[in-house]
Amino acid sequence: MDRIVMWFRRDLRLADNPALVEAADAGEVVPVFVLDPALWGPSGVSRRQYLTRSLRALRDTIGGLVVRTGSPPLVVPSLVMEMKATSVHVAADFGPYGTRRDDAVEKALGELGVPLVRTGSSYAVPPGSLLTADRQPFKVFTPFSRAWHAHGWARANATPDAVRWALSANSEELPTVEMPRDLRLPEAGEEAATKRWQQFLESGLHGYGDARNRPDLDATSRMSVHLKWGEIHPRTMLASLATSSADARSVARYRTELAWREFYADVLLHRPDSARKHFRPEFEAMPYEEPDERFAAWCEGRTGYPIVDAGMRQLLSEGWMHNRVRMIAASFLVKDLSIHWQHGARHFMRWLVDGDLPSNMHGWQWTAGSGTDPAPYYRVFNPTEQGKKFDPDGAYIRRYVAELREVPAPEIHEPRNPIVDHAAERKRALRDYEALRKSTAR
Ligand code: FAD
Repeated sequence: MDRIVMWFRRDLRLADNPALVEAADAGEVVPVFVLDPALWGPSGVSRRQYLTRSLRALRDTIGGLVVRTGSPPLVVPSLVMEMKATSVHVAADFGPYGTRRDDAVEKALGELGVPLVRTGSSYAVPPGSLLTADRQPFKVFTPFSRAWHAHGWARANATPDAVRWALSANSEELPTVEMPRDLRLPEAGEEAATKRWQQFLESGLHGYGDARNRPDLDATSRMSVHLKWGEIHPRTMLASLATSSADARSVARYRTELAWREFYADVLLHRPDSARKHFRPEFEAMPYEEPDERFAAWCEGRTGYPIVDAGMRQLLSEGWMHNRVRMIAASFLVKDLSIHWQHGARHFMRWLVDGDLPSNMHGWQWTAGSGTDPAPYYRVFNPTEQGKKFDPDGAYIRRYVAELREVPAPEIHEPRNPIVDHAAERKRALRDYEALRKSTAR
């Protein structure tokens, strides 16, 4: 019987995993995970910890997992030779690094006469599938979302019932990750993802359309981390949405949120440079300050603006931040502190347990005004007003900013020893944006 390598990457599950179905059909399956220093190195403690937990969960479900550390174009072919495997199966990766890595692995395997078989991806509609009527990549979300809904997605695959696992190869131990004592992460693995999704369907989805912007209510699904590691496939989630009895507005809204994730992956596929550079090149002329002690204060949640500080402290203590607060905190860095979005994006990527290159970089660029959808440049979030509107009783702030626990609303939203004056910085930001607009209109 042929021996097949199933190389898990960001698809740490058995259910609805088309690459695994293909592998299982082809022979006995060696489950492999490669700890790639190029990805492990820049990850922060929260993502490393979460990944090792998720890998342990996968290993326990399968009964074994072959873990090897090293560069995949070297490690995968060497494992193939060791196992005398005849093919390597993966879910396609569309990110800039993943594409390069897989091409290099494919070439190295080609020299051994072994194919790299890509089946499925971590998206309902694989990036690159949709184009505008002029055969151009989409640059604006709403038409993309329309095309995405119209395209539709395949039905979920069943879990293969009898995979013949080949578990004799040696494996390295999974690394132990030292965690700061006060970092609390969600439960990892496919079972945890399914449980969380079921809970949300039963008691969170109804009303999501209205409550999703309220960080105090804990009203979002928190599925981003499970999607990031592929512990569940979005197709599975879309199938449950189709039969949900929650209010139609919330169901539609949730589907649209999933479309944002797919949109940004599509944008990054067509513009891989936008992971590092402005999507709109004219923003190269925008003046920014170098990160200084105010940047350090932002990272540590000491800006004096309570909702910003609550968000930044949530990030450090949970590896996650509510979407509304991500927008407020990002706007504060770019517009109030006039610091380039890349610095903030890097800090987010270091700490976010759901850190995902397309969603993070383009979430930041949207806020900075340099991204896909033309967010009006004059939108400068007022952190005090945003706090009052979306955390009216101050419960979210109180949860993360210990020194404000005794302060009642609405005073809790007022800045305390602020590192900048929002009103003055707003005026300066608008002047800078206006100057940029005029210079590019010439
Ligand atoms: P829910 O409200 O329950 O949404 C359901 C799912 O839809 C999410 O899990 C996510 O997969 C997707 N989604 C929702 N909003 C967005 C969005 N704006 N863009 C893309 N996908 C979305 N999301 C990440 O997954 N990883 C990141 O690294 C990331 N960085 C961000 C950085 C900034 C500056 C901003 C403004 C947003 C960022 N987002 C990122 C998007 C969004 O904040 C998170 O997806 C969301 O907060 C995750 O929580 P949830 O699962 O409870 O969301």
